[in-house]
Amino acid sequence: MGERLRPEVLFPLFAPVTALPGIGPRLGKLFEKLTGPAVVDLLWHLPTALVDRRYRPKVHEAEAGRIATIRLRVDQHLPGRGNRPYRVRCHDETGFLHLVFFHVKGDYLERLLPVGATRVVSGRVEHFNNEVQIAHPDHVLAPEEAEHLTVEPVYGLTAGLSPRIVQKAIAAALDRAPGLPEWADPALLRREGWTGWREALRRAHAPESEADLAPATPFRRRLAYDELLANQLAIAMVRAHTRRLPGRRLAGDGSLRRSVEAALPFRLTPAQNQALAEIFADMAAPHRMLRLLQGDVGSGKTVVALMAMLAAIECGAQAALMAPTEILCRQHLATIEALAAAAGIGIVLLTGREKGRARQAILERIASGEAQIVVGTHALFQDEVAFRDLALAIIDEQHRFGVEQRVALAAKGGAVDMLVMTATPIPRTLLMTAYGDLDASFLREKPAGRRPIATRTIPLERLDEVVAALRRAFSQGAKVYWICPLVAESEAVDLAAAESRHAALAAIFGARVGLVHGRMKGAEKDRVMAAFAEGGVDLLVATTVVEVGVDVPAATVIVIEHAERFGLAQLHQLRGRVGRGDRPSSCLLLYAPPLGETAKARLRIMRESEDGFRIAEEDLRLRGGGEVLGTRQSGIPELRLADLAVHQELLATARDDARLVLLRDPELQSERGAALRILLYLFQRDAAVRYLRSG
Ligand code: ADP
Ligand code: MG
Repeated sequence: MGERLRPEVLFPLFAPVTALPGIGPRLGKLFEKLTGPAVVDLLWHLPTALVDRRYRPKVHEAEAGRIATIRLRVDQHLPGRGNRPYRVRCHDETGFLHLVFFHVKGDYLERLLPVGATRVVSGRVEHFNNEVQIAHPDHVLAPEEAEHLTVEPVYGLTAGLSPRIVQKAIAAALDRAPGLPEWADPALLRREGWTGWREALRRAHAPESEADLAPATPFRRRLAYDELLANQLAIAMVRAHTRRLPGRRLAGDGSLRRSVEAALPFRLTPAQNQALAEIFADMAAPHRMLRLLQGDVGSGKTVVALMAMLAAIECGAQAALMAPTEILCRQHLATIEALAAAAGIGIVLLTGREKGRARQAILERIASGEAQIVVGTHALFQDEVAFRDLALAIIDEQHRFGVEQRVALAAKGGAVDMLVMTATPIPRTLLMTAYGDLDASFLREKPAGRRPIATRTIPLERLDEVVAALRRAFSQGAKVYWICPLVAESEAVDLAAAESRHAALAAIFGARVGLVHGRMKGAEKDRVMAAFAEGGVDLLVATTVVEVGVDVPAATVIVIEHAERFGLAQLHQLRGRVGRGDRPSSCLLLYAPPLGETAKARLRIMRESEDGFRIAEEDLRLRGGGEVLGTRQSGIPELRLADLAVHQELLATARDDARLVLLRDPELQSERGAALRILLYLFQRDAAVRYLRSG
């Protein structure tokens, strides 16, 4: 559909890369891997470095180690013998130089460098046995072809693609970039000193100095802005569309909420009350709620979710709570059943594990409305699941679900209000690129009585210290998590590592050591988790399956093996498994030295801070937006030109501009509106264009 509507001026850019000269199906596959399937993807692949070929010395003055471009006469071919390389002797008026080739066919070299011909050669100069040489020159050109050898952009590569091929392909893509009508505000262009889009693109691909590679250059900023503007405009258009859809007022009488709150073993924190007030206001309003509830692990999101569900149930409707794993669902069910007992409502669990007759019975209770709260995994959005009247859907740990899944769940009801919860704080900037100004509530303070978690970093070779610390902890009745990383290519290898760690610890600590991993069957996993929560198992060796949400308040120590292999957000998540009760907790980060700079910074931040929001910001700073949370599955779009760690303020500008544009010209009918439509297509926001009435 998008293809049919795409403006013709963009057709050359949306041709497959194989439409470019010299790129056949084989190279096409490699480019697809490196940059993407279309010509336009090449444009977004900006250089990361440059090679300066403007140093043009005579042979006798050519400095070793420098890239030089030298004009030479070819004298003689000296084919290699044994492991001696093939050499070609050349000279200029000041001296001799050998071009050296390993494993290269002679006939090819004879064509490239015919004896008696003049060639311009460019490559790194070496001095070897008192001779000047260049091994495998980057360029061997006839003099008339050599004028363009000035500064070359250097691009990121993938195996099988040489620098030359990538350079050529990108140059060919740039040749195809059409002039496009200006979509940016003229005042902004003047203020920033920006050129038009095509010129900015050309300059970004033609750095003349290191400074030109910086994200703060006007041309890179312009491109970043364009990408962010397309992003913000698309989001604003989708939101405007959703706002036009009918919503539903969900304002109950508060009866269920009152009885449950009265029966709680604790009082809601001010942060929880504040979040609830925001949620209830959304639910009671006639539009559809799309709200994010962010709160660190242990901040008490579950009870907030429960209260919101009760508000829906008071109106006679149903609510669903979706979580990414079976363990987590069971845990939610247990918590909710305990907390909601006072309200006497129907709660069911639906995961992949309920089968046959039992499953049928659950489905019937959901369809009849007898089940007022449905807790479940991905199983919830299967076709066979039909609600009588679903009005509120809550998604826990939303980064594990994609946008489509969110939509699929919403489609199970008429005008479903949606609350997404995450324990991985998402930096404000990233949120904006995913949702625009999404309504968000925060649980910044933790329930009272929580103790800080003492975090230490220890090199792996000092394992005996760790064992001694665990002995002490056990003598005081502690429960301990021991996390083994999931990092190897194959799950089997990781599993083997976890199993051998389990065996080693069991040899020391005996039968109180348990093992839980992702390959285990649900029932088995639950059995081990239950033994850990209730007794029997005191030391739980686990792969990262415990990452999400599991609540064992008695656990006070977590050991994370190979902590350097985890991302910051993940370490923070894992650490949040402890410090849930009122006893002091600790976290031991075991690492294998030597640490790289980033790993060092990550571990330092973990020692310094327990504030998830600060950790998320640092995470963004350390790795750049693209990778935070494994954004590919998160519904957060990948940005290719903008770097949120650097271009933050452009995001705000783009957001404001998008708003203003839609205010003045909601259907993008004006001249600038038409240019903006092209921008949307250029950045493949075709879906958004469809929301225009005159799309
Ligand atoms: P999250 O899902 O945000 O990680 P949970 O909802 O699992 O956190 O809550 C963590 C623990 O804190 C649970 O044991 C819960 O019963 C408890 N809790 C929640 N709210 C409060 C509160 N206001 N005061 C004391 N404890 C609370
Ligand atoms: Mg939770």
